[in-house]
Formats: sequence, C-alpha cells, structure tokens
Amino acid sequence: MPAVEVDSGSRRSMGTFARIVAVTSSPKRSKRCIEAGFNEFRRIEDMLSYFKPDSELSRVNREAYDKPVKVSRELFEILQTSVTYSRLSNGAFDITIGPLADLWRKAGEVNQMPDENALAAAKSRVGYEKLILDVNTMTVRFAVEGMRIDLGGIAKGYAVDRAVEIMKRKGATGGMVDLGGNIRCFGKPPRKDAWLVGMQDPNLENSQPMMILKLSPDKPDMAVATSGDYRRYVEAGGQKVSHIIVPSIGSGANKMAGDTIIAPTAIEADALSTAVNVLGPEKGLELIERFLDAEAILITFTPEYRIIKSSGADMYIQ
Ligand code: AMP
Ligand code: MG
Repeated sequence: MPAVEVDSGSRRSMGTFARIVAVTSSPKRSKRCIEAGFNEFRRIEDMLSYFKPDSELSRVNREAYDKPVKVSRELFEILQTSVTYSRLSNGAFDITIGPLADLWRKAGEVNQMPDENALAAAKSRVGYEKLILDVNTMTVRFAVEGMRIDLGGIAKGYAVDRAVEIMKRKGATGGMVDLGGNIRCFGKPPRKDAWLVGMQDPNLENSQPMMILKLSPDKPDMAVATSGDYRRYVEAGGQKVSHIIVPSIGSGANKMAGDTIIAPTAIEADALSTAVNVLGPEKGLELIERFLDAEAILITFTPEYRIIKSSGADMYIQ
C-alpha cells in the first residue's frame, strides 16, 4: 500500500480564515499541495477583489459604463455563472448589488439608516439584467451609470474549487479546503471513512457545533457553504443589518439566522447559500429541491432557531 501523508496549513486569505488539509503519498508533496492552494487564493483575490483598485474586477467596475471592457476568459465565465444563479434564483442572487453594498457599508460606518433618495438611487443601479455580457467579444458592459459588480457571494466558493483542482493535479488523493466556511472535501480522509464538518451554532454563546456533517463516503467530491448574518453585519440607526442584501428591496436579508447548503461544487454551494438566505425558508427550500444533488439545512429566526431540512439532507448529518 502506498504511504499516506497528511498535512494541514492555516492562514488568513481573501479577508477570512483559510485552512487546507492535503492527503498525498509524501510529506513534501503534501506541503507543496497546501502551498499551491494558498497561492491560488491569492491569485484569485488579485483578480476578483472589490477593494483592490488594480484587480481585474475593479477595472471593469471603473470602465464598463463608458465602454465594453474586454476581460479574461476566467472572469467572463465567473460572471456568466453568476448570472445563471441570478436567473435560477429569480434575482435573489445578484452580483450587481455593489452600489447597495457600498451604501449599507457607509450606513454602518456612521450608524445611521441611509436616506430614501440615496437608497432609491443605489437600487436603480442594481440588476443583473443591466449587465451586458458579450460572449463573442468577451466583453462586459454596464447599461446604467454607477453600476458595480461585487463577487463576495461567489468568489470564495470559486477559489475553493480551484484550489481543489490544483491539489489534485499536484498529486493529492484527498483533502479538505476551507475558506471562511466555504468547504470542499475530496477523496478519502485518513483513518476515517468520511470527512466531518462542524456546523457553527448561530447562538454564538454556544461553542459546540450545532450539527456535524459527514462528507461524503459514497461521493467523490462534496462542498458545504454557510451564509448568515450572525457574524457579519453592520449597525445602522441602531439596527442590525445583514451584509447579504435583498436586491428587490435594497436592504439587508432578515428571513433567516443562517443557512447551510451542501452541493457537488463549492461555487454552487456558495451562490446557493447566499440566494437561499435572501429567499427565506419557503422559497429557499423550493429552490434547493430543484437541484437534484444539493441539500439545505436552514435555521430560522422565528420561531427562534428552528431547523428546517431539505428532503435529502439527513444523509449528510452524522
Ligand atoms: P455569502 O457570505 O457567501 O452569503 O456572501 C455575502 C457577500 O455577498 C456580501 O458580503 C456581498 O459581498 C455579497 N452579496 C450580498 N448580497 C448579495 C446578493 N443578494 N447576491 C449576491 N451577492 C450578494
Ligand atoms: Mg455565498
């Protein structure tokens, strides 16, 4: 039997906590896989960051109203995928929420609700149907002035998928990649028959995981993503406002304490977890049931922290 070497590394990456576990045949190879995964996170952050002025995305955000902006095939495909999730979720997932995200970030800084006019102005600049993607020329254009793309709801999932792909290419037979709660596992873990992922209790006073997910003895690859406002929110006018925005209304999502999605890829889990957080339990569950191999575990606000599961979720719960 070949040797099994497991190693892991943790670092801050893409504004959050990242951890990579690699299973290979040699200690050196495991280290190389982990390093390659973190390098990939950095490359993707340099391309997709909303805040770095020299990212490829920032160039689009600056120029795409004035003229069609030619982008890399990679960015183009991420934008296309994002729009697909917008259509599937009836607009709940929308990467054009940039102007609204900016508005609420500022509201949080001064702890004041934004005024009606500013909210209406930001809303008029949001909407995936105003994003013009031309596959023939690989260009992006904004139909309305002041539009901005924010990939915060999907970029981490994409980065996790990329890291897994690179690790496999470099000889990892198994592994787990976690980027701020966007997790993907592949292959067999050492000394166990499945990868285990702890789900954080939305009641942060409780340090024990609320549930343990088992990924996934009979499937080659599985991913998990959680969206919720119990860690990331702003306070505006004394009110807690989620960093996840309901595009149709323009304010923070408030229908759910948190939602965890299980799907074959991390990009899908990431996009769907944001969408379901916006949609709320009923419509969110409806969306997930349309995906044959995706499952959801939802935690409602009212009644306090009730758990709702999609039809096949139990097979992933330990
Ligand atoms: P997540 O933690 O994956 O649910 O992503 C939340 C982040 O996605 C926010 O911080 C924003 O950058 C972005 N975002 C907020 N609302 C939406 C939305 N309705 N659709 C897509 N992305 C969003
Ligand atoms: Mg997401």
